Amino acid sequence: MLDIQKIRSDFPILSQKVNGKPLVYFDNGATSQKPQVVIDAIATYYQEINANIHRGVHTLSQLATDAYEESRAKVQAHINAKHSHEVLFTSGTTFGINLVTNGFAAILKPGDEVLVSALEHHSNIVPWQMLCEKTGATLKVIPMNQEGELIMSEYDALLSDKTKIVTVNHISNALGTINPIAYMIEKAHAVGAAILIDGAQAVPHLKPDVQALDCDFYVFSGHKICGPTGTGILYGKEEWLNKLPPYQGGGEMIKEVSFEKTTYAELPHKFEAGTPNIAGGIVLGTAIDYMNEVGFENIQQQELELLAYGTEKLLEIEGLRIFGTSKNKTSVISFNIEGIHPYDIGTIIDKLGIAVRTGHHCAQPIMSFYDIPGTIRASFAFYNTKEEIDSLVTAVKKAQMMLS
Ligand code: PMP
Repeated sequence: MLDIQKIRSDFPILSQKVNGKPLVYFDNGATSQKPQVVIDAIATYYQEINANIHRGVHTLSQLATDAYEESRAKVQAHINAKHSHEVLFTSGTTFGINLVTNGFAAILKPGDEVLVSALEHHSNIVPWQMLCEKTGATLKVIPMNQEGELIMSEYDALLSDKTKIVTVNHISNALGTINPIAYMIEKAHAVGAAILIDGAQAVPHLKPDVQALDCDFYVFSGHKICGPTGTGILYGKEEWLNKLPPYQGGGEMIKEVSFEKTTYAELPHKFEAGTPNIAGGIVLGTAIDYMNEVGFENIQQQELELLAYGTEKLLEIEGLRIFGTSKNKTSVISFNIEGIHPYDIGTIIDKLGIAVRTGHHCAQPIMSFYDIPGTIRASFAFYNTKEEIDSLVTAVKKAQMMLS
């Protein structure tokens, strides 16, 4: 059992007031809050070891390089990657996906097919559309059902020897659905296709094991797991990372440069051109340590309790409908109230100190599927409480009264 008050005291922002009311932060799907150890680690980096990495022989440069590479090793252990050079530092999920789609531009031919799921964030749709436009490949969509689940029989039927890559999120940001990725990975491989998993919404809740999953790529952002913004990870299987061309050219990613020909550095440096977000990369390791100290079993237990409690309490509100009703879901409740625009509810409850996300959640195709302009999304983290859910329910009822 988590000592929630102790956990909450790790996050200075949570004791803040917003609009004169205690902050209730339920926008964890957008970004998580940061514990003091993470905030301190950023300052410590700049106070004690700031230097550029992988180049200087001087002491600070060595210290910074060691800390950066230790963080890479921490991520490797966390996701159980076989090699540390399969773990690339990025600026976030979006960057990681674009790195892969850029690489596949050199592989795909007209007639090839890319499968994307109906549940994706725009970050995992648009780069694939751009790739298909560039190469003449065709984008096909794995459809979803009313519960907000992908339809596996349709997925099976879409897969063929034309399929070159499948892309799907581990957990949907808009609805919270946990997708059956183990099945999807196996099926993609059975037709010889590669598969990318967008883990942006999964890593706050669970520890992915990329070797057990056997996925080809797994991407996520640091800012959703208590880490700094502008950080992220792209895991890629060694064979794939060797096959793909570099994404950006510049310093750090080369072996030798001449005006006639440049040769590229070995992994992971081939994909890490220029001076990276050194502080961010190091502190991402601190954030992962923090999450592991809290413990993913504890995190899941707390979040599932919040999900069950929140679902029950919100459904007591008349006219409230939840979108995303799969049994396999994480601590996200996306809902609307009959006759009221989600934006109006969001604005009123913000005045009461409650932070939720309203709108299409960068997943417009899902909103089109349900024929709605958007939803109100309350996404819970392990540091949230049932009392905060009570505040949400009271605030939503108040907004409903004011707006009807
Ligand atoms: N995919 C999913 C499922 C997400 O939830 C997000 C962030 N909302 C992204 C991709 C994009 O992540 P980022 O903006 O950190 O690059």
